Amino acid sequence: MSDSATTPNLMEALVSLAKRRGFIYASSEIYGGLNGFFDYGPLGIELKRNIRDCWWRDMVQRRDDVVGIETSIIMHPKVWEASGHVAGFSDPLVDCKVSKQRYRADQLFWAPVVVDGKVVGYVSALESEKTVEELQAAAETFKRKKAITGALAPVVAKDFTEAGEAEIPLIPSPATGEAGSLTAPRAFNMMFQTNVGAMSDASSVAYLRPETAQGMFVDFKNVVDTTRVKLPFGIAQIGKSFRNEITPRNFIFRSREFEQMEMEYFIHEDADWAKCHEEWITWCENWLKSIGLPASHLSRYTHPKEKLAFYSRGTVDIMFKYPFGVQELWGIAARGSYDLTQHANASGKPQELFDEATKKKFVPHVIEPAVGVDRIFLAVLTAAYAVEDVKDEKGNVEQRTVLRLSPRLAPVKVAILPLLKNKESLTNRAKALHAKLQKRYAVQYDDGGAIGKRYRRQDEAGTPWCVTIDFDTIEKPGDTFTLRERDSMSQRRITEAELFALLDEHVY
Ligand code: ATP
Repeated sequence: MSDSATTPNLMEALVSLAKRRGFIYASSEIYGGLNGFFDYGPLGIELKRNIRDCWWRDMVQRRDDVVGIETSIIMHPKVWEASGHVAGFSDPLVDCKVSKQRYRADQLFWAPVVVDGKVVGYVSALESEKTVEELQAAAETFKRKKAITGALAPVVAKDFTEAGEAEIPLIPSPATGEAGSLTAPRAFNMMFQTNVGAMSDASSVAYLRPETAQGMFVDFKNVVDTTRVKLPFGIAQIGKSFRNEITPRNFIFRSREFEQMEMEYFIHEDADWAKCHEEWITWCENWLKSIGLPASHLSRYTHPKEKLAFYSRGTVDIMFKYPFGVQELWGIAARGSYDLTQHANASGKPQELFDEATKKKFVPHVIEPAVGVDRIFLAVLTAAYAVEDVKDEKGNVEQRTVLRLSPRLAPVKVAILPLLKNKESLTNRAKALHAKLQKRYAVQYDDGGAIGKRYRRQDEAGTPWCVTIDFDTIEKPGDTFTLRERDSMSQRRITEAELFALLDEHVY
């Protein structure tokens, strides 16, 4: 058996399964696709909706202290000035003047080639799991090609933001292998611009939101004034965000249009923010485990104090072991009162609450857990994927691909399979069960092909249970079906009432 941890080229396997089974397609594929944009197919959208629904249910509906909102994607441009995005939401961009390739400076690595203590040249490589190995190999090739003798020192990798003015012209472009074509890094604002209204001049410029969070800050007073929320409380939102990423990559991990689930948890200015921060990190970790992500794939990264934005008190990222390395899945930031203060100053509308105890007004502080739906989607696929050797009905060994998705997330909860397609007594009973289940659950009726084939088809789609309507169903008392479990492949007989109880227990 090979599970996701041992599948070679896991990323390729996931991308291929996603396409083959209708989870994810490239956007506008018939026109060659558009880099950084994706479509979700029939199975994919069910899985994605289930991720959103689980989060919404657990984060909003099952808590008394969090309410939900949905704000517009295009907001007043002053929002983005006040938030700091117009001035500072940028990544360092490096151009290769020869190949016209563009790189994010912090993802472009380089190292001096040092032989017998002297710098004899430079090598470069793009960020990957093997950056240092690639730089070392490039340094060895460089030394050999130039026929330089002496002891080669181990490379010390730096990213391009750390390159000095004198070094930049000497570092080779990863595209051409030649030095002299890379520009110094410059700030590239990642917000997509558009124009609102018929005029297309500076006064009509607006932006597609690069995060959903500002909607919660801008509507803070509306929520306080129109609901009965009391500190501490949160405002949550799920919605699309857009970032003109310089190098979208790793499939849906870093795209230009993606979906975020964010929550702003407002606390008193004197509250123990560190405790609250830690509670939310733990909540997020537990939630990820509850949807089936294994603890072994999760870790924490605490941002070093010196790299935090000046207003930030602390940020911890929950990291996930993706096929291409350990990367940020969920960021949980303690943002102080920065955002509300910025909007109060820019709009002239105070964003304060009144403290009955001290009789003073104050601006609440905020803890922000912010996660991408698409990144959870990819994490879920990564963890769920497995290829196993199994025996078919005749005892022959064959391979099955299975997605071990949690029943809460699985796109199809149950497949209803009449044993034979052309036996009306079987298909009628199967259709009746299907119609009844369909009112409450995403289910699928499948009568095409041998039963073993149909099981495999459902395994690959992550369907936790198959129900077969066979001759015992119609000929023996009790009206029972064969229930086949995806993971154990075990089979047992079950009644309709038991089936509904099973679904009710596991699906919500
Ligand atoms: P990164 O450092 O990976 O670019 P970030 O720190 O800029 O991410 P945030 O601004 O904190 O990300 O956004 C919150 C969450 O939104 C991230 O943790 C991630 O799950 C998701 N996210 C951010 N950018 C993208 C993207 N380009 N594609 C998909 N999801 C994204």
